[in-house]
Amino acid sequence: MADTIQLLPDHIANQIAAGEVIQRPASAVKELLENAVDAGATEIRLLVKEAGKSLIQVIDNGKGMNETDARLCFERHATSKIRQIDDLFHINTMGFRGEALASIAAVAQVELKTRRSQDELGTYLEMENSMVVRQEPCATAAGTSIAMKNLFFNVPARRNFLKSNAAEMRHIIDEFTRVAMAFPHIFFSLSHNDQQVFHLDKGSLKQRIVQLLGNAYLSRLVPVQEQTDYLNIQGFIGKPDAAKKTRGDQYFFVNNRFIRSAYLNHAVMQAFQDLIPADSFPLYVLFIDLNPEQIDVNVHPTKQEIKFEDEKIVYAFVQAAVKHALAQFSITPTLEFDI
Ligand code: ADP
Ligand code: MG
Repeated sequence: MADTIQLLPDHIANQIAAGEVIQRPASAVKELLENAVDAGATEIRLLVKEAGKSLIQVIDNGKGMNETDARLCFERHATSKIRQIDDLFHINTMGFRGEALASIAAVAQVELKTRRSQDELGTYLEMENSMVVRQEPCATAAGTSIAMKNLFFNVPARRNFLKSNAAEMRHIIDEFTRVAMAFPHIFFSLSHNDQQVFHLDKGSLKQRIVQLLGNAYLSRLVPVQEQTDYLNIQGFIGKPDAAKKTRGDQYFFVNNRFIRSAYLNHAVMQAFQDLIPADSFPLYVLFIDLNPEQIDVNVHPTKQEIKFEDEKIVYAFVQAAVKHALAQFSITPTLEFDI
């Protein structure tokens, strides 16, 4: 009897795996921005056209890659960030799965230009269907530029699932905002169809919040700062009168990674309970830092969910820190914080 099982060719396997990592233009934006951050860039530029459907390009001034790495980075499970399974519990980079560029090269045409500062010439590489179609040395600025064109050109079913440009652009701005918020000491810019959307000079977290979320918050931010041996929390909450009717300006970062957590959100909402109407949402931008051994970030391909070893401690701490900040604020309600 004939055997029925066949190994899928690499480019098909990559296309399937890409479904988990790259669902829409915004997912690619997140991965490329995080790679630039991990490369130590101090300036990161994002250019998109047609809400990322025709072009997503990220240009950074980070450490760049040599010729071998420039080819290797598109292989599945190719990463410079971990070496063994234990490393997962000492993660201090945004990436570690080695899947993003392989996924992107499976579902878009990619042009990479990269140069390390110590090399005179950089590498130019063009990829299509997970394969190198052109490679040559090139003169280019130190750092890396990755342009992905025509997302899902080879997966039409998926391309048909994309939403309107306005909707996809909202997702892109959400992802851009989350990364830019976490790294206020990095310059970020975003342009859409050659029009500038954001130009974020390096500065403090307070400045970054106002740059990203609007001047209305300028005099309405209350600092949160609390520390124990186990964890550290810092950031800002909005004064109760800045609460909005729509959820949105609410951010948790754990070790600088944006995460979603209904559980921790509840902790903040409890602290605000008697101060705002039941149907409104306070601003918060809270950074929780703790020993990476206390969390598992490898529970979801997009890493937006994490597991805490002891979730209850974190909940109690978040709630206490926010209550404390609100109490300080109400003792000195006219206090203005300089920016
Ligand atoms: P991961 O980030 O999980 O390691 P990626 O597929 O996103 O996986 O990237 C693969 C590798 O390519 C990275 O580990 C890194 O070594 C290299 N790389 C990706 N983007 C950049 C960049 N902008 N600058 C320098 N190196 C990069
Ligand atoms: Mg990555």
